[in-house]
Amino acid sequence: MQAMNDGETAAIELRLAQLRERVAAACARAGRDPEEVRLVAVTKTFGPDTVAAAQRAGLSCFGENRVQEAAAKIAACGRAEWHLVGHLQRNKAGAALALFETIHSVDSIRLLESLAAGAAESGARPRLLLEVNVAGEASKFGFAPEAVPAALEAAVRLGAPPVEGLMTVPPFAPDPEAARPHFRRLRELRDGCRDRTGFALPELSMGMSGDFEVAVEEGATMIRIGTFLFGRRIPWAQRRPADDPSGEAF
Ligand SMILES: *Cc1c(COP(=O)(O)O)cnc(C)c1O
Repeated sequence: MQAMNDGETAAIELRLAQLRERVAAACARAGRDPEEVRLVAVTKTFGPDTVAAAQRAGLSCFGENRVQEAAAKIAACGRAEWHLVGHLQRNKAGAALALFETIHSVDSIRLLESLAAGAAESGARPRLLLEVNVAGEASKFGFAPEAVPAALEAAVRLGAPPVEGLMTVPPFAPDPEAARPHFRRLRELRDGCRDRTGFALPELSMGMSGDFEVAVEEGATMIRIGTFLFGRRIPWAQRRPADDPSGEAF
């Protein structure tokens, strides 16, 4: 049977080719191997049809920011690797452990406790990244940079799943260069923690549609891309039930 969304697949293929070209160019500027940069395609607010089109375009690693929305989508889509990139409430830690291969947004010791307890119960051991609020923004989740070494030690003490790196969302700015010092700070923080604590911390999750090239130049190993691949999202407040595979917003 012919797939229904060939137009959408072709559009995603085109954007994906452009994205890969720009990532490769950023890698060349930084003397990096493009194989070191993993693409997490952020499908939040888009339905299973878009995920299916993305899978036909060759994508296999998807990011979501809400557990309930993701659960509905994961159930509706075939095999893929799913990452949680948004804030996780402690009461959804158990559900998140069962759904995601990687949780990018571990932002408190109390959440680490819940993840450790849930992992002990279920045996699920996704990779964890600590979210760092590099610019100290009051509106953002994440550890203060100086709190990261203690959080790494707490993760081990609690028996949490392995912490494999750091993630950040820099302050919004139209100029991607404005993000560079924040990305650099995350990398330097990672390097410092590696030296001080002995954790390998291979992963740096940083870079979105507006600033991924700068993030790659500064050492990103995972870029989280939504808009560039899939177009503009319908703002949460304006969504209708038909837009939402989980019904969570209503
Ligand atoms: C939505 C989101 C993204 C993707 O953002 P785009 O600008 O659409 O690429 C990346 N990371 C996080 C944490 C997000 O919430």
